Amino acid sequence: MTRRPLIVGNWKMNMNVAQATALAQDISYEYDRDFEDVDVVLCPPFTDLRSVRVTLGFDKSPIMLGAQNVYWQPSGAFTGEISAEMLKEIGCNYCIIGHSERREHFGETDETVNLKARALIAQGIAPIICCGENLATRDAKQTIGHITSQVTTALLNISAAELKDVVIAYEPIWAIGTGLAALPEQAEDVCASIRETLADIYGATFASKTRILYGGSMKPSNVAQFAPMPNIDGGLIGTAALVAGDFMSLVKAFL
Ligand code: PEP
Repeated sequence: MTRRPLIVGNWKMNMNVAQATALAQDISYEYDRDFEDVDVVLCPPFTDLRSVRVTLGFDKSPIMLGAQNVYWQPSGAFTGEISAEMLKEIGCNYCIIGHSERREHFGETDETVNLKARALIAQGIAPIICCGENLATRDAKQTIGHITSQVTTALLNISAAELKDVVIAYEPIWAIGTGLAALPEQAEDVCASIRETLADIYGATFASKTRILYGGSMKPSNVAQFAPMPNIDGGLIGTAALVAGDFMSLVKAFL
């Protein structure tokens, strides 16, 4: 099964409107027709979604829009939150959920990731479900069990038919933003185990079609080691997503 590679840029809490517009313009300019065999998603902060969408729309760019978080209720007295309907209306095709920074700073759990996944699916937005272990879990050789449990809980009671466009991103916490990526073999082992988990829940056909990304200090100098790995279908990119040339060299590596 050949899966279409996917590169997702997580801009985190960076870029004001002018900076976001300029970065989207630069990426859109560099993503010429030669790159169309790789799906690209930009996930700016909520406040930049509209300007990035307008910029990409003006260029008639096939680059897609994603958010970095969502709340699972459709509307109401939830001060500060953004619903899946709102993301849909503004043009999001994807949404990152369960990022380790949200788990660490904002109390996100596997259970709330499950609620968020359902809310997104109901709006036709593809969830990018993040999972990953900390160093203590890795040192204790509990990585695979931890990841299996995160993925299984995030997908609880969601059917294969509902999930058609889900993406799983394996992001070891110790590799995020540190400059020190996992070894490609370590990342491949965990991504392969995620595919096995998906096969156990949804069957081999579903698992073989689902895109699994690696994230954690993926950058121009190391991407060539990850791209050939059979179970790594692309990247979730933080730091290198903020520089158009760096980001596009990651896209190119997955061509
Ligand atoms: C991330 O935050 O999802 C990420 C992968 O960041 P970085 O590329 O900076 O490690």
